[in-house]
Amino acid sequence: MLRITWVLAGLLCAVVGFASGKDGQTPNQKPPLKTVIIDAGHGGHDGGARGSLSREALLALEISLQVREIMKQEIPELNVLMTREEDRLPGNQTSIPAALRWRADYANKSGGDLFISIHLNATLANQKYGRKQVGTKEETYYVYSGKGKKRKKIAKTRTVPVYEKYKLPATVSGTQTYILARDWYNLKLKSVGNKSEIYEMGENDSLDTEMMQMDPVEARIRAAQYTKYFFQKSMTLASLVEEEFAATGRRSWGVMQRDWDGIWVLQATQMPSILVETGFIDNPEEEAYLASLDGQKEVARAIVNAVKKYKAMLESLGQPAANGTPGGTGTSN
Ligand SMILES: [Zn+2]
Repeated sequence: MLRITWVLAGLLCAVVGFASGKDGQTPNQKPPLKTVIIDAGHGGHDGGARGSLSREALLALEISLQVREIMKQEIPELNVLMTREEDRLPGNQTSIPAALRWRADYANKSGGDLFISIHLNATLANQKYGRKQVGTKEETYYVYSGKGKKRKKIAKTRTVPVYEKYKLPATVSGTQTYILARDWYNLKLKSVGNKSEIYEMGENDSLDTEMMQMDPVEARIRAAQYTKYFFQKSMTLASLVEEEFAATGRRSWGVMQRDWDGIWVLQATQMPSILVETGFIDNPEEEAYLASLDGQKEVARAIVNAVKKYKAMLESLGQPAANGTPGGTGTSN
């Protein structure tokens, strides 16, 4: 079993909590959502998960470019930034951990209000093999007869079946959107670290040991900050994204949290952040969908729709204060 926390049912709570959450906004500041960072996962020699025809790094980039395009058309007031626009690691980085750091640093330095990392999934459950008999062959074996000096080795033959391994059809498909677990730092401390589960599903971006040796003070501060300011928003957006995917007929696994270790780009970005697994590249049907322009546009549109709703929620919550209307709901001018 996967150690996952289902939180989609918590959407209502998230939305309600959202209204009362302290988000640090004060009246007449910049709009609550201005700069969105789109992060195409992996890149270059970090190909990510593999399909039969394609690599995660390239499809994630193509989907991300579609997200940018549709976002610019439909929410033109947003400043949309990409961590990379080519199939290579971002920021001229050559190592994967350095590139991960760069992604988060870039988002922070750019004053991002929202960070959306785009990935494709893979699971060992889609890598199962069966065995079938495809024929027979003659096999030589030896028997011994006699004793002492008369002992002789005699070659004999027998007919044995020949089997062939074949890949079973992929069974796992669908979308997942990751957010950090609330108070992930403490969860991580408690984690017993059953790493084998990580390979079952989802990202293993943060497995690099160097990455995990984060300064504990810095990690604790980030965890507290995330819990206080970003958890509710990340949760809300993630739920909206998964709802939009479900509305297009995809299988939605919902909002996921990982409590056995963090996801670097989520824990190091100082803004609400989500990591979207847009489908299973190791499922040939989903791979074909995610490699097609129509599929990529549909995925991108779902993400943009979710951002639209998220933005509208932020603005509706922010407006009364910005207008200076005490308890000001129900008035419009
Ligand atoms: Zn990935």
